Amino acid sequence: MIDVINPADGSVIGQTPLMSPAEVAEAIDRTCEAFPAWALKTAKQRSDILRRWYDLVRADKRVFAELMVRENGKCLSEALGEIEYGLGFIEWYAEEARRVYGDTLPSHDANASVLVMKEPVGPTAAITPWNFPFMMITRKVATALAAGCTMVIKPAEETPLTAWKLLEYAREAGIPSGVFEMVTGDPQAIGEAFTRDERIHKVSFTGSTRVGKILASQCGTTLKKMTLELGGNAPFIVFDDATLTDAVAGLVSAKLRNSGQVCISPNRIFVQEGIYSRFVEQLIAAVSKIRVDQGMQEEFDVGPLINQQAVKKVTSLVNDAIDQGATVHLGGKLHEKGGLFFQPTILGDLDDSSALHNTEIFGPVFALYRFKTEEEAIRRANNTEYGLVTYAWTNQLGRAFRLSKQLEAGMIIMNSGSVGTASVPFGGIKHSGYGREGGHYGIEEYVQVKYVLMAGQ
Ligand code: ADP
Repeated sequence: MIDVINPADGSVIGQTPLMSPAEVAEAIDRTCEAFPAWALKTAKQRSDILRRWYDLVRADKRVFAELMVRENGKCLSEALGEIEYGLGFIEWYAEEARRVYGDTLPSHDANASVLVMKEPVGPTAAITPWNFPFMMITRKVATALAAGCTMVIKPAEETPLTAWKLLEYAREAGIPSGVFEMVTGDPQAIGEAFTRDERIHKVSFTGSTRVGKILASQCGTTLKKMTLELGGNAPFIVFDDATLTDAVAGLVSAKLRNSGQVCISPNRIFVQEGIYSRFVEQLIAAVSKIRVDQGMQEEFDVGPLINQQAVKKVTSLVNDAIDQGATVHLGGKLHEKGGLFFQPTILGDLDDSSALHNTEIFGPVFALYRFKTEEEAIRRANNTEYGLVTYAWTNQLGRAFRLSKQLEAGMIIMNSGSVGTASVPFGGIKHSGYGREGGHYGIEEYVQVKYVLMAGQ
């Protein structure tokens, strides 16, 4: 068994099995064996079962939320927010299951009809990270199941308890063994078992770019379809003409979500020189008010980082920036609570050559850079191997359109700090991955197109 640790106090809150290769193989077998019957169900039958899962989880959302606070460290209000977000995917795909439409095309042959059918790709597998222990599971499983695929999932070993609970509720809702399976254990061995299996036709992965590339090359050997949602280095650009108070509020909520441990967290905050000082002043005022705590209260607070390695990484990035001359406006070190708590930190006057500029921080650190012109902001924002999301704040309509075209990212968020919801295509470009999750785009990743020529009429 593997211990599951509460990052807020280091206590052991549960365990998850360290499954043997044989147990993993059995779960994959069940996933493959269950596929034909699940694919043959009507869309309405699949939809009804997903809807039952949605209703059962919704009725017990407090149970899930408290578990998430304990195994992930996020505060209760965020956990409840994640549940709404995650349930949104089950609801959306329960509905979308019934709208996977094919096509009929004008025929090139007078005696034939041309049909285009959409079919589920087959049994699938997924690997998820610890930062959204609930939503990452529902987003992948609901989409796959709606399309008529079965799925075996490996949640992060840091946060498997929420995932097991979701499986328990799925069974109660009537999602049979094999249609949704779960394994935990050695990530590398499980990744290999998923990717080398000829019967698995698709792998969906959310996690680091490093692991995404390993899985993509492994999937190359069996030519699997993939959805990869990998790291980010999100620019957050604030122009002189932006509504300052809104931009500050949007930044604070986007940055401190899950203590900054989010792939779409604003990583490089570019502020135009005309408002830079006022922006810093308002940001300090807003961030100083935020509590750091272990999260079981109703109000928002910043929780611990996930583990010691995360604390080491954030500490070293911050220290390097300070050594290179960054201005420390707030925080800068471990929180007085000790353990895995890091102070909400604001660093100013940073340079694009700093490690902070080129690394996904994954901590409550606001990294501020000055810029002069629009052209410069676009060039510097795009100067990264990543391309997940870019936020920009401006009240000039023409500029907003220019930015939306010229910024290199899968998602452009204008005058808001809020990105995700079930109906939109979430995903990146460049080293942030490919494929989209959410909306009608998400289900396309789980179907294949079959062209049928019906001649002899
Ligand atoms: P993070 O930094 O978010 O932990 P990782 O990419 O390391 O990102 O982890 C995301 C998921 O990938 C987790 O479920 C983890 O167990 C899994 N993982 C880590 N290494 C491998 C690997 N070599 N093969 C397959 N999965 C892996």
